[in-house]
Formats: sequence, structure tokens, C-alpha cells
Amino acid sequence: MNDSDEEKKRCEEEFKNVNEAYSILSDKDKRRRYDQFGSVDASDRANFNADSIFNQFFRHMGGFGFGPEDFGFDQGGFRSQSPFGGFGPFGQRSQSRRSSRVDGEDLLLNLRISFEEAYRGASKPIKLDSFKICDDCHGSGGTIKACDECGGVGMVTQRQDFMVVSTTCPKCHGTGSIVTEVCKSCHGSGIIGTPSDLTLNIPAGSYSGLKLRVPGRGKPGRNGGEQGNLIILLSVEPSKDFTREEDDLVHIQEVKVEDLVCGRTFPLSLFGEIVQVTVPELYDLYKPIIIPNLGFKSLRSGSRGDLVVRLKLARPTKKLTQEEKKALKDLLK
Ligand SMILES: [Zn+2]
Ligand SMILES: [Zn+2]
Repeated sequence: MNDSDEEKKRCEEEFKNVNEAYSILSDKDKRRRYDQFGSVDASDRANFNADSIFNQFFRHMGGFGFGPEDFGFDQGGFRSQSPFGGFGPFGQRSQSRRSSRVDGEDLLLNLRISFEEAYRGASKPIKLDSFKICDDCHGSGGTIKACDECGGVGMVTQRQDFMVVSTTCPKCHGTGSIVTEVCKSCHGSGIIGTPSDLTLNIPAGSYSGLKLRVPGRGKPGRNGGEQGNLIILLSVEPSKDFTREEDDLVHIQEVKVEDLVCGRTFPLSLFGEIVQVTVPELYDLYKPIIIPNLGFKSLRSGSRGDLVVRLKLARPTKKLTQEEKKALKDLLK
């Protein structure tokens, strides 16, 4: 007998135990005793524990490349979502799928802010629905009744040869219940949105792609699950005067030859605040002028980048005469 035959044999052996467990649990009287005491006295063994046999069986099945997950169970969910669920240790209602904690979904909001708002930070009032479970249907979406396909268990089982295959009920999608009359208040969603005001605090230094999280402003959770969050995805409008490089604020300043030769001070408006940018005498065109700590505030360190002014030579527009050209060359000698 090779390994796989041995495996098969062991599997069949364990399946016999499973069947036995099932038959005991199907027997009303024995099931009642099982529920009460956690075990029943089967004639040939004391303290028969059906639960551990099922677990063993499924653990063993895992060796064949499929485990309880393939049967629609969550991790550790065999007890609560057993194909024989709905009674005793295999279907404690408090743990069953329909009453398990489900956290609310997050809501995503795309928000466009100006370059200045990204630089300075902003407080933006917005109108946004605030969500809660519908009072009229308590989140069920309408009048519900137990699913007739699965008898309210959420799982359907089929016997295939010596195996019991259990899958999520196609009619109720595992919830165990179906809606017979759609709730008029929430139109079946189970959730009610009411317009409400919210002030978003955009931190100085925000950038495109930054996600801000407002806790508890998403969809409501169910059965004690947490309310989801509001996630704000920022995009920053470009500026005609500035760009951003890391946390530096970058400005391109046009200069003329004489500015580089003689030096010059330019007023630069930083979103309404005037900053004087001085090009020193005989300055190098390719050397940026750095004004420290006037850049973006870093969201990580809290320190600020610099204002970086890059110089660009303005194209001469006036054609010089021969005498003027000579005079200029003499001057720059
Ligand atoms: Zn409703
Ligand atoms: Zn069903």
C-alpha cells in the first residue's frame, strides 16, 4: 500500500467517524444531550466528542490540498459555520455568519485643493452624508425571513460519494435570510445617509496623493462592528508661479544680462506676502538663490523646505548697433 492509499484509507476511516458524529447530532435526543453537556455517551466510547472528530477530519482533508477555507469557512470558523450549523456546538447562533461583527466600509473622497492651500494648510467646510443603520429595518434592508434554501444556516451541503461538500447558500449568499419586502426608508441598503457639515483640516505641506483619514465617518458597522472611516485623497492644483520639489518651493525668475552684472532685487509674491529676492552683482546664472525655511512644511519632520529661485536668462529683444555692441564688449571685459 503506498502513501496515498494509506491516506485515503485513513480519510475513509475518519469519515466514518464524521458520519457517526452527524448521525448522533441528527438524533434529537442525543443532540440535546450534546448541547447540554458538550458530549454524548455513544455506546462504544465514553465522552464522545463530535467536535474534535470534525476538526480532525477537516485538518486531515487539508493534507489533500484543501482545507476548511474551501468549504466556505473562515479561519477558526468551523464551529460556527459548520454544514450542520444551527444547533449545538456546530452552529452557535452568537457566532454564526449572520451575527458576526462586520466593520463598516471606508468612504473615499477625492478632494482638489489649491497650491496655496497645500502650502499654507486649510480648513475646508464640506457637506457630506453621515451614515447610520436604518432605524426602520435595523439594517436588514426590509422584512426578512429565514432562507428556505438552506433553512437559515447560510450553507448548503451535498453528499458526493463519501464526502459531504458544503458551500455558501446561493440563494441567501450565506446570510441565512432573504428579504421579502424592501424597506422604504433605506430602499434595501440598510443604511441611511443624512447630509451633514464637516470641516476638513488640510495640513500645511499636503501633497497630491496624500490620504487623510477622518475616523468614524464611513459606513456603519454591523453587529457591533466599527464605523468605517472617511478617506480623503488629495490632489493639488498646479501653480503658475511655483512648483514643488520635495519640500522646496521653486520659482523661476527671468533676469537680464545687466541684472547678473550689476545685481538686482526682485519683489516676489508668496501667495500675497512679498519676499525680496536679491541677485548679487556678477552672479552665476546657473546658481539658484536659496532663501531658507520658506518652502513647504514637511509632514514627516515638521521642518520647512527652502524657497529656491532659479534664474533664467531673458532673451534680449533689442538689436544693438555696432557701436553699442563694442561698448558692451568693452564693458564686460
Ligand atoms: Zn431600512
Ligand atoms: Zn440560504
